[in-house]
Amino acid sequence: MRRQRPTLIAVSTLIAVTLTTAATPANAHNAAPPDQVTALTAHQADGYTTLAWQPVDGATDYQIERTPVDADNTPTGTPTIVGIWRPNRQINQQAPTFADAGYNPGDTFQWRVRARTGTTEQPYSEPVTATTTAPWGNPTTPGEHLRTGWETTHAAQYTSDTDEYAYTAAIDALSDRVRVVELGRTVQNRPINMLVIGHPTPAATPQAVAATAPVAINCNVHGNEPGDREACLIMARQLAFSTDPRITDLLSHTTVLIVPTINGDGRANNTRGNSTGQDLNRDYSLIRQPETTAYITMVRDYRPVAGYDGHEFGNSRAGDLPMLPPRHQNVAQPIFDQSQDMIEGHMYAKGAEAGWWACPYGCEGGGNVGLSEETILRNTLGLKNVTNSLLELRSSGGQTRPDEGNTANNRRRKTYSALWTFHQFLDYHRADRADILKARSEAIESQAANTGRLVFRGSRPIPAHPAPHPGDSPPPLDAPPADLILDTPPCAYKLTDAQYNGARTDGPGGIGTTVAQRIAAHGWKVITIGDEHYVPLNQPERGLIPLLLDGKGVEKLTDGERVYPTLTGRRNGPLTVTGFTCADDATINGPVTVRAGAALVTTATTISGPLTATRAAGILLADSTINGPVRIATTDTISIIDATIAGPVDLSGNTTGTDAPVLAGTTIRGPLNCTANSATPTNLGIANTVHGPRTSQCAAL
Ligand SMILES: [Zn+2]
Repeated sequence: MRRQRPTLIAVSTLIAVTLTTAATPANAHNAAPPDQVTALTAHQADGYTTLAWQPVDGATDYQIERTPVDADNTPTGTPTIVGIWRPNRQINQQAPTFADAGYNPGDTFQWRVRARTGTTEQPYSEPVTATTTAPWGNPTTPGEHLRTGWETTHAAQYTSDTDEYAYTAAIDALSDRVRVVELGRTVQNRPINMLVIGHPTPAATPQAVAATAPVAINCNVHGNEPGDREACLIMARQLAFSTDPRITDLLSHTTVLIVPTINGDGRANNTRGNSTGQDLNRDYSLIRQPETTAYITMVRDYRPVAGYDGHEFGNSRAGDLPMLPPRHQNVAQPIFDQSQDMIEGHMYAKGAEAGWWACPYGCEGGGNVGLSEETILRNTLGLKNVTNSLLELRSSGGQTRPDEGNTANNRRRKTYSALWTFHQFLDYHRADRADILKARSEAIESQAANTGRLVFRGSRPIPAHPAPHPGDSPPPLDAPPADLILDTPPCAYKLTDAQYNGARTDGPGGIGTTVAQRIAAHGWKVITIGDEHYVPLNQPERGLIPLLLDGKGVEKLTDGERVYPTLTGRRNGPLTVTGFTCADDATINGPVTVRAGAALVTTATTISGPLTATRAAGILLADSTINGPVRIATTDTISIIDATIAGPVDLSGNTTGTDAPVLAGTTIRGPLNCTANSATPTNLGIANTVHGPRTSQCAAL
């Protein structure tokens, strides 16, 4: 369900009015002295305690005090201010909450809360005492008993690489729900593992997993930002062994993909970049490095529909959990909207319940961050039609968590806030799955239609959330400069064989994979005619293709030649297609035959039909209508997205290799038959409407 922002605005407006009224001397109620906090409660959760209380009129902030106590509730340590609640923490000001974290889970504490009016401290609340929740899992139950190196050392040490491999292998061995797969190797040959988690067992192949609308969490790209990774490892154990119906229900409806450490070399050496010094979160589009190549290839094969990308952030004034959607203006609007709904609709609301302060990345003077580089996973995933968010964990305790001088306690707060976020992410996917899939379908269809300008750098604005709100200074506007806008998109980019297959030097050790290999890792369709290679834009990742292949690309792979449509407007009579032919906004009254070795690419085009292709180099149809039969045989590259075809449609003996023919979001008013294609056609998770029988390889399409 999509949460409505206007409701939040209405609530916020009410609060603003209330506060203004309270400050008016004429209001008699206001003359009463500020009061004691009442109705304090302490709710125990995984690694944190949610404190909640009745607000005090006129309070400017609140102080949260924690005291360790023994079994008889006798203090065993000094009362300490561990938290400051300020109005910018949360959207619901009438029910203040604070997530206290940064203690040894399982210990017992007493809490009190007091309001401050300016610098004047009001009386403390009555105390509440409770024992906090111990680390998850019964120590005597197989599987549940596992602990990470970080847990075993009470957050004194991060889990090492070898500890991670042993821990995840033990989970794999003890849980039917988990399969650990190796996605690739780092430059220094460390395995890059992914946990594939489903109930009762994960689907067997990447294609089968893709059919479950999976979610993916990338836990640690910057090696010196390890807090999220520890959360991922704990969550993997919970997902693997929990008997909580919420968990088994989640895992029965999707597959959770967790990559604990994409940057194993950087983690082992506590560096931001990988062993070559490359910031991997500036490489997801270019995929020069084996680590990013592994992740992007995983996205191609497993097709996650939603994602989170974990980081830590050094701005001590920021919220607990800065988040940001994919903002690049080439990201389809539905993906941006859905990602914002996940952050502002879900995370802000749930954060206000749990006491965690989510805010836009860049909030509270975060600086020039959160921009439009397509090299950043947040944007790369958006351009791949994945609803997703960046997650930052504020590195230091900052002003609102004044007692995090203890390193272990600081690490606990970060890790358990990440654990909360990732569980909320799964809950959001469970609740909003239909909307997420709808956004993805709409995004793929609008991208494949190849309409509208292309922007090489430039972000959508992130408006400030109505005050009081979690973070009143969102990231910079980052509007696209005029010279990085292309108003009329080309139909395709043409690459020479030297550009496409030539050796490169931009990878580790001066050795790089070819452009052909990188395009294959992204999963884009390429039409090869002779020694020329065409990358059409009427594909799902249309917004990303020019950023790598156009001369205007800021961080590009090569300067491809823009190829514009040659067929537009009305044309009567039979058409025989030779060479590379692109039709846009065309009406072709007559049968179309695509010759051997030739290719036809269409958008917004109507063909009376029939359309016939035999031994063609490629047929890519998007947002087009064929008022007759379509027969495509022994052809090398095939994609039909958001088309209407009178039918029948026959795809037979096509030779696309592992690059499966795409037939997605298309209406066929006749039978559909697919026989003896070298890869079974796929619908990318977007169902087709077929009025006739579907047979053979397309029976489930
Ligand atoms: Zn980072």
